[in-house]
Amino acid sequence: MDKVLGTLNGMSYTVGDTLLELSYLIAALLFVVGLKLLSHPETARRGNLWAAGGMGLAMITTLLLHKNNSGQGIPLSNVWIVLAAIGVGAAIGWMVARKVKMTAMPQLVSLYNATGGGASMLVALLEYPAAVAGDIQSILVTVLGLIIGAVAFSGSLVAFGKLDGRVGDITKPFMTYLNLVLLIATLGMGVFIIVSPTPPAEMLWAIYTLTALALVYGVMFVMPIGGADMPVVISLLNSFTGIAAAMAGFIYNNDAMILGGILVGAAGMILTLLMCKAMNRSLINVIIGAFGGGGVAMDREHGNIKEITLSDAAVLLSYSQKVVVIPGYGLAVAQAQHIAHELDNLLESKGVEVKYAIHPVAGRMPGHMNVLLAEADVPYEKLVEMDDINPDMPNVDVAIVVGANDVVNPAAYDDPSSPIYGMPIIDAHLAKNIIIMKRGMGKGYAGIENFLFFNDKTRMLFGDAKSSIQKLVTEIKSM
Ligand code: NDP
Repeated sequence: MDKVLGTLNGMSYTVGDTLLELSYLIAALLFVVGLKLLSHPETARRGNLWAAGGMGLAMITTLLLHKNNSGQGIPLSNVWIVLAAIGVGAAIGWMVARKVKMTAMPQLVSLYNATGGGASMLVALLEYPAAVAGDIQSILVTVLGLIIGAVAFSGSLVAFGKLDGRVGDITKPFMTYLNLVLLIATLGMGVFIIVSPTPPAEMLWAIYTLTALALVYGVMFVMPIGGADMPVVISLLNSFTGIAAAMAGFIYNNDAMILGGILVGAAGMILTLLMCKAMNRSLINVIIGAFGGGGVAMDREHGNIKEITLSDAAVLLSYSQKVVVIPGYGLAVAQAQHIAHELDNLLESKGVEVKYAIHPVAGRMPGHMNVLLAEADVPYEKLVEMDDINPDMPNVDVAIVVGANDVVNPAAYDDPSSPIYGMPIIDAHLAKNIIIMKRGMGKGYAGIENFLFFNDKTRMLFGDAKSSIQKLVTEIKSM
């Protein structure tokens, strides 16, 4: 392994160095293939394994073959510490992932995001003295890694709290200005550290102040964001975690880390921009002016709620030609995806055409409905994106809204005072008949009234979505 093969830029390289670089290249290819496979529900599980394989390979070869600038490998005592840390982390990750309920998945993703950002922040903090001894690029990536990692860490923790219902939205008009001041202070301190020629020991106060500022900015940046903007922020934070990891890769000059981080950062940024486009929002608008904040919805006449009996629902559905299921967060809570698929199979066996209308922010994480329905083996062709299904909604005989609320709330069109005004929705209100399945009159994530429930064409089927659909299936079978 130590046999010198040649020299490059005045540095000799050995068989071990070559193998290490080769393993990073293979790891990068595995990440790319994994990412590609992740883009389709049917191949996503395999994609995860490929990417994890790449990460495992990069970790093993780094431990065995990495050398520092003086040409020394990782001392055995440190290898044990690293292995112990990996063991503890893997055990905790494995147990948490096994125990977590599907409904708490979005929170778990936010927590993982936070740990990624926090790890990059710690790497930058620890490596700061070494970076200062190097060139300006080393300080630049260290400061950037610290800021982005800290914002991703504290911001993702707040996002976790919001998704878990522990943290509310705090939207005061002054917060936009406060956040602007905090952002300028954080960036200003970063620039000060980069350009300052003072020795590292004397600059420690500055690096700690920068860490504190970035952590506070992360909290304050996510705090006012609510309602329809949360999904965008979650994918933005995800992208930050990737970019922070790439910065940590630059700090260690580790190609696998750089590539892995850039792939996550770029994928997260693309998703963020796609979400913004789907929600009719610009990224700047999301960051500085919150949707779903403190808006007070218009005061209107409620009208009456009408319920539907199971037998009436069964007859209506069985004699329809076109039925559209609109799933939302309640489908995930009830875990009703399998029984929903049974219902659609049953209806199709009676000649009814059934499609699922997928809103980009339905549920609590990007792609939430796609994942759930794929898990229940609903064919992908039955899932129709919002923009494609909306023009057809007036021809739909029955729209069944299963545990969705905000994503079908017409206030988004006709109530300028509503916090979700301007958000695109699935046009359930245009269908000829609307059946809404939910447990009671509970509000959705944005915490506002939904006048679709009082629409003349709407009939409510109250109860847990899984048990309601189960009873409906039994009723249709008995007809
Ligand atoms: P909502 O949160 O608007 O509504 C969910 C509805 O499901 C509730 O009104 C609730 O009513 C009902 N429900 C809950 N449990 C059950 C159950 N067991 N059976 C039947 N119904 C149930 O969901 P949507 O999917 O319509 O909208 C998503 C919202 O979440 C949007 O505001 C979005 O911006 C936000 N968000 C989305 C994220 C994402 O990435 N997708 C991330 C963060 C936020 P009841 O209590 O009466 O049953």
